Amino acid sequence: MTAKTLESLLSEGVQGRAVLVRSDLNVPLADGAVTDDGRIRASLPVLEKLARSGARVLVTAHLGRPKGEPVPEFSLSPVAARMQELSSAPVKRAEDLTGESARSAVAELAEGEILLLENVRFDPRETSKDAAERGALAQELAALTGQSGAYVNDAFGAVHRAHASVADIASQLPAYQGDLVASELQVLKRLTESPERPYTVVLGGSKVSDKLAVIENLLPKADALLIGGGMVFTFLKAQGYGIGGSLVENDELETVKGFLEQAQQKDCRIVLPTDIVMAASFAANAEHEILPVDSLETGAHGADALGLDIGPASAEAFAAEVAASRTVFWNGPMGVFEMEAFSKGTAALAEALTQSEAFTVVGGGDSAAAVRALGFDESGFGHISTGGGASLEYLEGKTLPGIQALGA
Ligand code: ADP
Ligand code: MG
Repeated sequence: MTAKTLESLLSEGVQGRAVLVRSDLNVPLADGAVTDDGRIRASLPVLEKLARSGARVLVTAHLGRPKGEPVPEFSLSPVAARMQELSSAPVKRAEDLTGESARSAVAELAEGEILLLENVRFDPRETSKDAAERGALAQELAALTGQSGAYVNDAFGAVHRAHASVADIASQLPAYQGDLVASELQVLKRLTESPERPYTVVLGGSKVSDKLAVIENLLPKADALLIGGGMVFTFLKAQGYGIGGSLVENDELETVKGFLEQAQQKDCRIVLPTDIVMAASFAANAEHEILPVDSLETGAHGADALGLDIGPASAEAFAAEVAASRTVFWNGPMGVFEMEAFSKGTAALAEALTQSEAFTVVGGGDSAAAVRALGFDESGFGHISTGGGASLEYLEGKTLPGIQALGA
């Protein structure tokens, strides 16, 4: 069975119907404003298409990890404000998810209008391990759409989660695949079915244990795995090096040793940095110096120093690996790119991708934001994916609950 497309929903006709769309609007914020609106811009085409066809469009989405209770700093209110600026259709906002505010806003919502419901993760049932709890929330969400409702999943960045608004809801309403999800899957298929080789995967970022878990599954698929970002230090420590106060996952040291051995058998090279930018503290203006990986604790701040970026020799080596590849998938910044002093590794890698002849895919919220924040033109990349975790799990060959629920 394959998923029903948005096109098929539109040809059924949506005039006057309430259509609930799960979007990925999980954008970075600073001081109550959206700092990178990439995911909003990627989500709007489906919402506007539905609105233009006369649907009453309800949008459910999450922001951050509020742990099942309302937290003002994770309100979708700034997202609604940005959507209003960007959208061709009127955008309204509810102050809750399925409560009084949402119900009356839905009742007042006109054809061609969009209503953004409050952060779905303010409700603990969204991420509950108990299927009955998730089912109950899914039912409440479905009930908002009334008689002839429909559900569209366009939240590619969330399809790897078995959450109420992503998976369970699909059995409560006629369910369709959004265009963003469809186009992301098309690109990822190209990476899994017959990637042109050499195929290089670059991993970085800060979700160390999440990302360590994917390495095992990528070893048989990729020709080379370049490791940057916070994950580096678990590898370096596993090899016996001092890493100062850098990010580390001590429970995973044995696992990482296992990866290094398996890599040899699986014919996949794991390429680690040879130098690191070590800083006095986690701050934009922190004193810092470049040190070789075997002497990270020998600098001015000794064993208190933090590794916040790959060094220039490593960046050059990574760029050369990219240049020699035919397919590159990159997830996770090489360093703390939000701070100028620690953005050079990420910038060098992004530059190498734009220079490359290979089919290049960037996946991950922060990775995509980094590329834009550092001033790269999106057209220099083969594809910029809105989903990091989701695209990694797809590349690993895992079943994605949000995709499965649509019958794909
Ligand atoms: P993505 O959203 O692209 O999947 P992650 O969420 O895993 O990426 O990680 C992004 C974050 O990783 C960035 O905020 C960046 O500052 C952080 N990061 C990168 N390298 C390091 C490091 N060495 N130490 C601490 N944080 C790091
Ligand atoms: Mg992230």
